[in-house]
Amino acid sequence: MEFYRTFLTLTKKLQRVKHVVRRKRRNRKSITQNSYARKAVLAEHEEEARKLALSRLEHFNQFYNFKYNTVRVKYQKTRWGSCSSKGNLNFNCKIATLSPQLLDYIIVHELCHLGQFNHSQKFWYLVEQQMPDYQKLRAELKLIRL
Ligand SMILES: [Zn+2]
Repeated sequence: MEFYRTFLTLTKKLQRVKHVVRRKRRNRKSITQNSYARKAVLAEHEEEARKLALSRLEHFNQFYNFKYNTVRVKYQKTRWGSCSSKGNLNFNCKIATLSPQLLDYIIVHELCHLGQFNHSQKFWYLVEQQMPDYQKLRAELKLIRL
């Protein structure tokens, strides 16, 4: 998929910037300049991951037809996604590095919280509508470190 290709290019770019930063740190020159470059690449990364999240949300919401507000994508250390009571959806930037199936599971999971703001049987029933093998994917995701 186009998104994955762009994301991979960005990941490579980010690694290159990190490398340069590491090298420059030794002579303490241009650190500011490099951290700006790093921030710019991170922002680009987030924007690409956000586009990906939005396109998958749109896809699955053709079925669910829920209302959501702001969709944010950030680097986070603790979670893949979250849904606020105000209908704002947040996703970890790293969702773009997952397999399409796992990415879709996270999208559907958070989308379904707009219908059920809990993890009740009703919630899992909603998830199952679009993700019949959600249990397998959920187990798989638990094995991946954030
Ligand atoms: Zn949940």
